[in-house]
Amino acid sequence: MSQSRTLSSQSWSAPEEEPIVRIENVTKRFGDVYAVDDMSLDIHRGEFFSLLGASGCGKTTLLRMLAGFETPTSGRILIDGQDMTAVAPYNRPVNMMFQSYALFPHMTVAQNIAYGLKNEPLSRAERRERVTAMMSLVQIQKLATRKPHQLSGGQRQRVALARALAKQPKILLLDEPLGALDKKLREQTQFELVNIQERLGITFIVVTHDQEEAMTMSSRIALLNEGRVEQVDSPRRMYEFPSSLYAANFIGSVNIFSGFVISHEGDVAIIGSEETGGELQVHHSQPLTPGMAVNVAIRPEKIRVTTDTGSANQVTGVIKEIAYLGDVSIYHVDLPSGKRMQFTQSNIQALAEQPLTWDQTVSLTWSSHSCGVLTQ
Ligand code: ATP
Repeated sequence: MSQSRTLSSQSWSAPEEEPIVRIENVTKRFGDVYAVDDMSLDIHRGEFFSLLGASGCGKTTLLRMLAGFETPTSGRILIDGQDMTAVAPYNRPVNMMFQSYALFPHMTVAQNIAYGLKNEPLSRAERRERVTAMMSLVQIQKLATRKPHQLSGGQRQRVALARALAKQPKILLLDEPLGALDKKLREQTQFELVNIQERLGITFIVVTHDQEEAMTMSSRIALLNEGRVEQVDSPRRMYEFPSSLYAANFIGSVNIFSGFVISHEGDVAIIGSEETGGELQVHHSQPLTPGMAVNVAIRPEKIRVTTDTGSANQVTGVIKEIAYLGDVSIYHVDLPSGKRMQFTQSNIQALAEQPLTWDQTVSLTWSSHSCGVLTQ
């Protein structure tokens, strides 16, 4: 994740201007299934916006409603200030890139890209120029005369992208755009996609179920859960400040300790937890009342081994599992309460002088600023 543009940049903040997409209380029902359930969402010009969520949460249905292939049961969608209710798919300022790429097998690469322009009022020369520009953008000029079956998966993906971009839509909708690529190619292509989007300044709305992919590419992510928006945030905020147990568990690894509020003063709360066998200190910005049931979330990489005693947020347990992943190791620790937690350590040295080992008792601690309190 270290290469991510989003993790190295500041948190995204909404511009003043009117959003390019406004989804207003949109519901889509299929029989008694609420695929999208009273959803409201603003997407801004030039964003790389991801719709993320588990299978069946409504991502594709929402994308298809933006494209005009499905009609909302209720609510409305505005694109660039215009109500899309009565606007046919081909009259919308959007284009869609399908997961299957849907390339025509009998056409060459150049013909496939030109096909996207068939209804555009362009001269032959302008059309040829646009196709050349698109091939150059995605670096497939040398493949112009090949047919799709003579291309690799990654090359086919580029052709589909070039074809979808050729019409110069205001918004490009991408349904699992990297789903057909293997892991290595997918990671490489993520950055290319971001670079292309930044160069063109077109708004990209991407459906993905891969949280790492969403984290790497997006300006913001909408995490969907059963047709509803669970959280909308920049990747960094989504990771650091999940707003619910669901969001905390969906993005990355996390330790969750259940407990109750003992007291709070200013922005510091003291939480009692039987699972840790003591009190936890958390910085928070939520309204809490003594006695309230809450969960405390702490990411494994925020935890460190300590020899100190008596500091806040300290637990002692026994290492039961170790997973060596090369750059980091993951340790699973059993606490006296029976709760299992995990922490990670980066493997800075090839061989640590005294590596942690199985059945070793360790004291672990973390800062009250590194953990979060979840009320839902
Ligand atoms: P996946 O990641 O598996 O593609 P998704 O988040 O894109 O899932 P959707 O395809 O939007 O989910 O489906 C949301 C819900 O709506 C699911 O329960 C699905 O079965 C249902 N659904 C979608 N399309 C239809 C349809 N045409 N008829 C009936 N039910 C549908």
